[in-house]
Amino acid sequence: MAKRTKIPEKIKSYLFEEAGMKCANPGCNNYRTHIHHIKEWSVYQTHDSEHMIAVCPSCHDEIHYGKLTIDDETVYLWKNIKREKSNRDHLYIEPSYTSKLLLGSISVTGDNGVKVFELTNNTKLTYRIEDEDIFLMNLSISNQNGKEVLKVIENHVKYIVDDKINFERRPGRFKITTNRIIDFIPIWSMPIIHKMQPNYKIVDGVLTLTDVEVLKPGLVKVEGLWARNDVVIIITNDSLNFIKPGYSKPLSLIGEGENSVLKWSGKIDSSMFRFN
Ligand SMILES: [Zn+2]
Ligand SMILES: [Zn+2]
Repeated sequence: MAKRTKIPEKIKSYLFEEAGMKCANPGCNNYRTHIHHIKEWSVYQTHDSEHMIAVCPSCHDEIHYGKLTIDDETVYLWKNIKREKSNRDHLYIEPSYTSKLLLGSISVTGDNGVKVFELTNNTKLTYRIEDEDIFLMNLSISNQNGKEVLKVIENHVKYIVDDKINFERRPGRFKITTNRIIDFIPIWSMPIIHKMQPNYKIVDGVLTLTDVEVLKPGLVKVEGLWARNDVVIIITNDSLNFIKPGYSKPLSLIGEGENSVLKWSGKIDSSMFRFN
């Protein structure tokens, strides 16, 4: 058996892209991948990209040793999937009979979830509970022209691919930032937002549009900025802030952490915070 040589970087990056920058298994959302030679190395002994695929370490183990067979035919099927440039993700939230969204230092809850606010059709924050313990996040963020840059539908994340939008992720967390602050924050609100200092800083001109993190089963922390022409809502690491024209400073809700709870007992389709 020939000594295995290193896979050329060019082939690796081709295969990563072919798999949509994730595991090529369409049923897997792991993002860290490495390369599997589909036909055994002993047969080919070459790095032929036609017979190689990017899969995550778990799926790779399954291919070689799994009980539920992943045969070469299946792997070639995965390889032949035509994928767009990746702009999808999925947030897994471990189920729990208690559910809360932590907004800064205060959390919100409701028996079947909470519609926290809905400024417009594509500027909103909601979660709902299905079958008592399944936590489904829904949120949208748009720029000032009403163009949606991020949408989460029941834990499925879609975002636009744009050089002004930066997407980062790890299992249980994703974060979207932008360097185009002016596209997202109405001018009138700037002096009011400035009063949020020193706790709110737009570091080096980079604005956090959303930062969602699963902290515990049924507990999700959300930071971000949602704006309409007459309302801005900013959730920072420690406060939930409402800003309207004429305010001298933001109206801020500050609690003591996840155990400071606002419980919604209204209808699931009406908002906890309304602005008319
Ligand atoms: Zn392999
Ligand atoms: Zn996988």
